[in-house]
Amino acid sequence: MIPVKEAKSIIHKHIPLSGTETVLLKDAGNRILAQDIIATFPMPSFDNSAMDGFAVRAVDTKGTDQSFPVTLKMIGVSSAGSPGDITLGPGECAQCMTGAIIPNGADAIVMVEDTSGFSDTDSVQIFQEAKIGKHIRKKGEEIQDGDVLIPKGTCITPNEIGTLATFGYGEISVAQKPRIAIFGTGDELVEPGIKLKPGQIYNSNLYIFAELAEKSGVEVIMRDVIKDDRKLLRAFLSKALKTCDMVISSGGVSMGRFDYVRDVLMELGVKEHFWKVAQKPGKPFFFGTGESTLIFGLPGNPISSYIGFMEWVWPVLDVMMGKPEQNFLTGILKASFPREKVKCRFLFGKAWMEDGKLVCRPSSKMGSHMLSSSLEANCILGSATGDSSLQPGEEIRINVLPWKNIK
Ligand code: AMP
Ligand code: MG
Repeated sequence: MIPVKEAKSIIHKHIPLSGTETVLLKDAGNRILAQDIIATFPMPSFDNSAMDGFAVRAVDTKGTDQSFPVTLKMIGVSSAGSPGDITLGPGECAQCMTGAIIPNGADAIVMVEDTSGFSDTDSVQIFQEAKIGKHIRKKGEEIQDGDVLIPKGTCITPNEIGTLATFGYGEISVAQKPRIAIFGTGDELVEPGIKLKPGQIYNSNLYIFAELAEKSGVEVIMRDVIKDDRKLLRAFLSKALKTCDMVISSGGVSMGRFDYVRDVLMELGVKEHFWKVAQKPGKPFFFGTGESTLIFGLPGNPISSYIGFMEWVWPVLDVMMGKPEQNFLTGILKASFPREKVKCRFLFGKAWMEDGKLVCRPSSKMGSHMLSSSLEANCILGSATGDSSLQPGEEIRINVLPWKNIK
């Protein structure tokens, strides 16, 4: 059994980086940028109006108000996308719509509400003095040509995709999705929807894995539930080792008489880096490497395999795709947390804000088979080894499940 820290550092030495591929912007959601996104022009890219109104020379509106409006000659219309070719001389103005180019010679916009309004006549009354620059969005005021807009490694969410579109990126370079094989193993496993016989249970872990894989942004290309049978395991694994960047299994990797996963992996030439880690839950935990495949053999208890995926596999997938290292939060315990003398302890938990502080408590169901402990959870709480429980008021590391909120 090796300490968690050592296991992490072993894994980190073996993480390959994903290749890159080009995708259309419409397909880029949830992908990880493989290039810095640079502004190839300033934003705004031209001086334009922030209001529907009249482009004027501020000097021509001096002293005007509701009682003594100035009348200007209206010489044209600049609308969004159709600038016209307009140059204002003294006493002249032009209709200018939101987003439209500011005509030459104009230095302010008077909004239409402060005028006699839009019409087809060639004059307009201005009721409000204009200040130079008023209601004009200046070229480059938001972003300069050459600015780094979004760094490589960023996950493309609604926040990024609009900016990519704004700067005309029709296609972008992203990390290839790691190709993953997931499988569960156990003679007792039955698919949901089928009637259980005595001693059988439903396979839940593979459904969790598939969902986690989807959320983490990888592609599951092999998925199966396999009997505790060397031949069947061998058939699945030999194909997976040839075609996948990562294999993630649940079950069949402990001390049980029918736990064949480890044996079969070794027979297939996988190099074992470790098999047991000082953690609870999830001590039987195999990590190995094939020619170009990482293999994570997680134990079958649903909490062990779920937490194992989130604590061990998810961060590796992030690194493969070039995402920055995850930062954990720290919260204050509202209930005690059972530490272990020689093992790191992980439990599903709930974190929430109270009086402006981040607080949390572990699930009251602590067994590694008690999957319902995930139902109320929005995080995984984790503590290092210790002689006694952490007490309410003490701090603990919080790994927020990325698809959950803290309220
Ligand atoms: P194992 O690691 O194979 O010894 O399995 C440990 C426990 O997890 C046993 O009670 C199994 O029945 C259970 N288990 C294994 N695989 C799954 C699965 N895919 N879904 C739900 N429970 C499982
Ligand atoms: Mg089993």
